[in-house]
Amino acid sequence: MQQGMLFTEAKEPKEGTDNHRVLEKLRERRFDYVCGTHFLQMFIKDYAQRIHDLKNMGHRIESAYCKEHPYWNHGHKGNVAMYSLKEFKEAPF
Ligand SMILES: [Zn+2]
Repeated sequence: MQQGMLFTEAKEPKEGTDNHRVLEKLRERRFDYVCGTHFLQMFIKDYAQRIHDLKNMGHRIESAYCKEHPYWNHGHKGNVAMYSLKEFKEAPF
């Protein structure tokens, strides 16, 4: 665990690519998670692969199961992953 990391040397994906769209969405919800179904709504079917790519580029992304989210009550079946960007600081929960 790296403490006090204020910026990252992670590579920035090219604008307009799905990797970039996924990263922008994660940044928008920086202190919360983004459910996998949200990426599906953005027509990013292979979001798990995009998350994998972003991790390989050096972005710190945490994943968990959507059903473990403290207040979401999504109706989807099965184990859908949710993702959270840990780029700037630790989440406050
Ligand atoms: Zn969900």
